[in-house]
Amino acid sequence: MEHAKDVANGAQTPQSSGQHTSINKPQDPMDSTKFREAAHAAVDEIINYYDTLPSRRVLSSVEPGYLRSLLPSGPPEDPEPWHEIQKDIESKIMPGLTHWQSPNFMAFFPASSTYPGMLGELYSAAFTAPAFNWLCSPAITELETVVLDWLAKLLNLPDCYLSRGEGGGVIQGSASEAVVTVMVAARERYLREKSEGLEGEAREDKIAHLRGKLVALGSEQAHSSTHKAANIAGTRYRSVPVHLEDDFALTGRGLRKTIEDCKAKGQEPFYLTVSLGTTSTCAVDCFEEIAQVAKDYPSIWIHVDAAYAGAALVCGEFQHHTAHFSAFDSFDMNMHKWLLTNFDASCLYVKRRRDLTDALSITPSYLRNTFSDSGLVTDYRDWQIPLGRRFRAMKIWFVLRTYGISGLKAHIRHHIQLGDLFHGLIKSRSDLFAVLTPPAFALTVITIIPRRQRRQRSSIPADRPDPAHEAYTNDFTPDATNQHLIDANALTKEVYELVNSRGEIFLTSGVVGGVYVIRIVSANPMAEEKYVRRAFDILVKTAEEVLAGKEPVPRENGVEENPLVKMPVPRLG
Ligand code: PLP
Repeated sequence: MEHAKDVANGAQTPQSSGQHTSINKPQDPMDSTKFREAAHAAVDEIINYYDTLPSRRVLSSVEPGYLRSLLPSGPPEDPEPWHEIQKDIESKIMPGLTHWQSPNFMAFFPASSTYPGMLGELYSAAFTAPAFNWLCSPAITELETVVLDWLAKLLNLPDCYLSRGEGGGVIQGSASEAVVTVMVAARERYLREKSEGLEGEAREDKIAHLRGKLVALGSEQAHSSTHKAANIAGTRYRSVPVHLEDDFALTGRGLRKTIEDCKAKGQEPFYLTVSLGTTSTCAVDCFEEIAQVAKDYPSIWIHVDAAYAGAALVCGEFQHHTAHFSAFDSFDMNMHKWLLTNFDASCLYVKRRRDLTDALSITPSYLRNTFSDSGLVTDYRDWQIPLGRRFRAMKIWFVLRTYGISGLKAHIRHHIQLGDLFHGLIKSRSDLFAVLTPPAFALTVITIIPRRQRRQRSSIPADRPDPAHEAYTNDFTPDATNQHLIDANALTKEVYELVNSRGEIFLTSGVVGGVYVIRIVSANPMAEEKYVRRAFDILVKTAEEVLAGKEPVPRENGVEENPLVKMPVPRLG
């Protein structure tokens, strides 16, 4: 139909007209002169955006579907000038943005953005090339190998992860993608090993039998990407229990028990994610103990997920964490979380690159070339799931050079200090807040203390019974501890929702070991002490406000009601 309309409007190909005519290139609506102008205007607007970020409401307040009503039902028929397009950024897009770069963004984990990172993105766009093979743009492949080796040394990874040996690094889009990639490699390696010596149908049968028994493992606090990867890889998933008394770290004991349980059921554990910094509390698994267990189960692939906290390894005081990493098979950290690099830059390292290429290399004739065939070059398409890939090494290169090692260390240490400051402030109001686990990697995880447990500031005169006093210890509730948890969870949730609904700061909540928590992490490049102090003041004010709403309410008949115990308290005197 559209085609018929175009023909009616005079669209003809030389073949259809039967005449020899020259083919005219359509006019480019943005030539280099217009691009220069537009790019300057865009850069100016971006700089202005960053300069005004602290004063913008961090959370968007739009309703779902807000944008459809603001936009036309289809693209314009004719070209629009850049200044018309750019106008819509402030008026239509900005209201629907959550400002991840705002210093008042203290939710999830940070997603860093810096000017050198943006310049890397700009050049990457300019040199656009889905450089799957070395030949597709040698510089794209070779810069990736070089900067990932730089980074491996900076993070104190063992030499086995460097490209000069059997290992090496590759940039993936995300930590989740890295987990799927290594899990597939782990699955194929496991099946190969377990069917060794068999041939033909016997081998196929053995592999088919084993496939149904494979089980991937992660701790209860491992990021959900491991479970998702198991779904994608078509294997079972089993989580290993972790406990508050171990600060939610995966222990060797817990791991061994789960492996033995699986084996007893005839299952085949083939893969494990261990975490350097879990999402909920930044727990660090017991690497030394896990490395010991690994000795008894050498076929299990162990992947270190250090998506966020891995960035801290640039500082010497955190490098002891890598002491046992040579016992593991792969490691991944996101430069785009905490290390000043724009999304996406997830740096995956493997100890044996052949494990990846054995699982992921398929070479149809159109991808063959003499360089690849020579085996002297790296074709990163064999280290990842997609074929094409972006030029992501450029922004890492720019960031590493612009900040230098000293700048990266200063950046991490600044945030650790801010985390410590915030933790200290929280502890100074131990009547209001409890800390669930020790502060780690700038993350603090808190709960609000319900009124009945609070020790101070009773407004009820001493000559009258105070329902808040010793309420949980002298409670009539059959399970007072449990009741306290229920109250604390409800209260923490209420405070959390009120804080976020006001949009002055943005936090995330979670449930850890049955406890509802608020997570606060101030670690994007704009983070500063004054914003951390303000966040604390907002939390105090909101917690007090919510608790005040739950104070015993005086009744006209002289009876006070405590809404928590729901029991009238007679007034004396
Ligand atoms: N692992 C951990 C520990 C995380 O905290 C996260 C996300 O926050 C991920 C993995 C997933 O990261 P990505 O978004 O890069 O897949």
